[in-house]
Amino acid sequence: MIENSKRIVFKFGTNILRNEQGDISLSHLYSFIEDISYLYKQGKEILIVTSGAVGLGAKKLKIDTSSTTLKQAAASVGQPMLMGIWQDGFEKYGITTAQILLTEEDFSNRKKYLSLRLTLHKLLENKVIPIINQNDAVSPSELEHVSFSDNDKLSALVASKLDADLLVMVSDIDGLFDKNPKEFKDAKLISKVEKITPSIEKLAQGASLGGRGGMITKLTGAKVVTSSGLYAKIVNGKTPNIIKKIFDDNTGTTFYPNQNLPHKKRWIAYATNIMGKLTVNDGAKEAIIKNQKSLLSVGIEKVEGNFKRGEIISIVDFDGNEFARGVSCYDSEDIKKIQGKHSDKIIEILGYKYDDDVVIKDNLVVI
Ligand code: GLU
Repeated sequence: MIENSKRIVFKFGTNILRNEQGDISLSHLYSFIEDISYLYKQGKEILIVTSGAVGLGAKKLKIDTSSTTLKQAAASVGQPMLMGIWQDGFEKYGITTAQILLTEEDFSNRKKYLSLRLTLHKLLENKVIPIINQNDAVSPSELEHVSFSDNDKLSALVASKLDADLLVMVSDIDGLFDKNPKEFKDAKLISKVEKITPSIEKLAQGASLGGRGGMITKLTGAKVVTSSGLYAKIVNGKTPNIIKKIFDDNTGTTFYPNQNLPHKKRWIAYATNIMGKLTVNDGAKEAIIKNQKSLLSVGIEKVEGNFKRGEIISIVDFDGNEFARGVSCYDSEDIKKIQGKHSDKIIEILGYKYDDDVVIKDNLVVI
């Protein structure tokens, strides 16, 4: 039940933290702080993912943010301003905060990820509220293989990896509508989503909300958390005292949990730099999807990318559709030599063998 949620991640978007002049909206921010403090005092564990660094910094520097470098510079100026406001506000309620700035690599590198988990757990144990943002100043967001570039995705990763119970994405729209509410007056709010189907995903198309995220990234975030066994919610931060209403079914859109992947599989499925691609034949695809088997060299038709043993690769069918991800047991160069060959030939070809499987089933996730 959503009201039993103990650990809650709140994500606040730039649009809801800024007023029309582009300045920080203190009235919104302070009311969030006040209501979160109320939940905190009820014994909830809270993590906050906040946007707004780029916007605040750009305003301060009087620069536009047309390039990545300008954005990164603006974020470096805006981040301490943003953090200062959160910290100051929570201090008034006797609550200590911590600043955590993250890049994609902090999730994709398993060592960093495990260390991040430990730090965040320690902070929560010590009754601290972590205030998280993307580390924009150093995030190589222009690189292709980066898999989070907006705070919707980041908040979903934080929530699913930190064993939260609920992710609340606080935006400037009431939730998911059956049509774009900005165009259609009779658009209806969908208050309950049991499963994010392709038809639900279609509703998000074109309903961009400004900022880096939009309804599409919110749905992607909701998908990540619901498949990790959590609830997700989109609510409108302009509704007075919305934070106190998050457990109410009639507020915003609630996404229900529908699967519960074990931790390592969540890490593989959602938080990864994909370093390469293996195209497999139909037999291998069927074995993986229907029979939950591992990936053998014999089913591999094509190897793309330059990756090392232990890195994450995407597994695609002949049409190029990605249907699984996994941790490779072999370097890409090795796989090129053993693709299409039986496992019992691996030793003969390579001179060594780590495993019969190229991806063992415990390191394989169907997506
Ligand atoms: N990290 C960005 C900022 O603080 C926000 C990214 C986003 O809104 O998704 O400005």
